[in-house]
Amino acid sequence: MKASRGSEVLIIGAGPAGAATAWHLARAGIRVLLVDRARFPRDKPCSEYLSPEAVRLLDQLGVVEDLEAAGAAPLHGSTVHGPDGAALTGRFAAAPVAPFRATGLAVSRRILDARLLAAALAAGAEFREATLVDGPILESGAVTGAVLRAAGGPSEVIRARLTIGADGLHSRLARALGGRRHGRPARMAFVAHVAGLAGLDGLAAMHVGRDGYAGVNRITLATSGAPAIANVALVVPVERTRRAAGDPTRFFLETLEEFPGLRGRIRREALVRPVLVTGPFAARSQRVLCDGALLVGDAAEFFDPFTGDGIHAALKGASLASHAALIALATPGPVTARSLAGYRRARLSAFLGKWTIERVVGYGMLAPPLFDRALRRLALRDLGHTFVAATADYIPASAVLNPWFLCRMIL
Ligand SMILES: Cc1cc2nc3c(=O)[nH]c(=O)nc-3n(C[C@H](O)[C@H](O)[C@H](O)COP(=O)(O)OP(=O)(O)OC[C@H]3O[C@@H](n4cnc5c(N)ncnc54)[C@H](O)[C@@H]3O)c2cc1C
Repeated sequence: MKASRGSEVLIIGAGPAGAATAWHLARAGIRVLLVDRARFPRDKPCSEYLSPEAVRLLDQLGVVEDLEAAGAAPLHGSTVHGPDGAALTGRFAAAPVAPFRATGLAVSRRILDARLLAAALAAGAEFREATLVDGPILESGAVTGAVLRAAGGPSEVIRARLTIGADGLHSRLARALGGRRHGRPARMAFVAHVAGLAGLDGLAAMHVGRDGYAGVNRITLATSGAPAIANVALVVPVERTRRAAGDPTRFFLETLEEFPGLRGRIRREALVRPVLVTGPFAARSQRVLCDGALLVGDAAEFFDPFTGDGIHAALKGASLASHAALIALATPGPVTARSLAGYRRARLSAFLGKWTIERVVGYGMLAPPLFDRALRRLALRDLGHTFVAATADYIPASAVLNPWFLCRMIL
């Protein structure tokens, strides 16, 4: 095993959470090493939906123009179709509070993540791709770096004052810190890109069934030479996915036929990349920090993709994590859990409301008649825009988590 020079901060994972944290820290003059097991650009199973508030955070990182030039499609909001035929539409621009801009964006993660990584490198971060982090180095309960392994190369020890786990849903650092739980509902996702799907508009469509849901989101506009591409994501309970073993594409296509709004619309020949599979979700780290380490993005918390907000949470978390890291790194010597403690409090204050909404929706789906009733009530009272704005983080969660709104949703 080779020993290497130290970095001030080692970031494991160069998805939105890792790249944005690297951007913040490198701009503040910190020596950052960012490592990812993948070679970029890489795909990531995701519905590729960005709310106006996520766009605001991307704008701070200076990547929005570039994403639009690369073909990102404007997104006006979403429509949820319930299991018994109810439908609720929320448009970003019609919410009681104006968003950062009238539209969000829909863009392939291959493009988004590569642009974010480029921004981190331009800010001064160093990057190693195709390099797996085997696990952290733990000394007397403190993380002092990690063991890296480049494809085909020897293991290497990297020491760092602070190690940041941005390594996603199955984070090794989160598991090493302890307190990582995968709870219920345990769901898996199957995600495809589909060419030439009819009936696409600038609204993402969520089709909720009795035993899962499927989302459709247009991620590129049609041009004279090429059809529009849609992202189609199917989310089902883990127990159902045993049938998928060996042929996830077949399972994906057959299961989509259960949704009346998608029946007969998605053909195997129209898939433009292999179906990607991920899960199970509902993952939470009770320990988001310790001496020498902290977690950000999905490595810290990811409940369910339904409310389409993980990238916003990753970018927001990156801003909170880098703020806490800069305070802790300003004092010479080891970075202690105590010096990072503000990060835990900042996460609670930023995310608690949204975590609650996600759970209300996620568990609400387990009772289809109730879910349908809520959609009908909200549509009747024209409250869909408020609901979408709260899930999209530009009005506070309290706008929907209050007795008045909840009564109007059910009664
Ligand atoms: C089906 C589905 C649909 C979704 N739809 C949306 C949506 O529409 N909008 C939205 O905002 N969010 C959505 N999300 C959530 C979003 O994808 C995540 O929240 C977001 O990607 C989190 O970013 P991250 O940087 O924390 O993790 P990731 O994007 O997962 O990045 C983690 C990185 O770590 C690397 N890595 C992992 N382990 C190691 C290791 N041991 N060594 C080195 N590198 C490692 C990986 O290669 C990866 O590049 C969806 C999620 C799913 C599953």
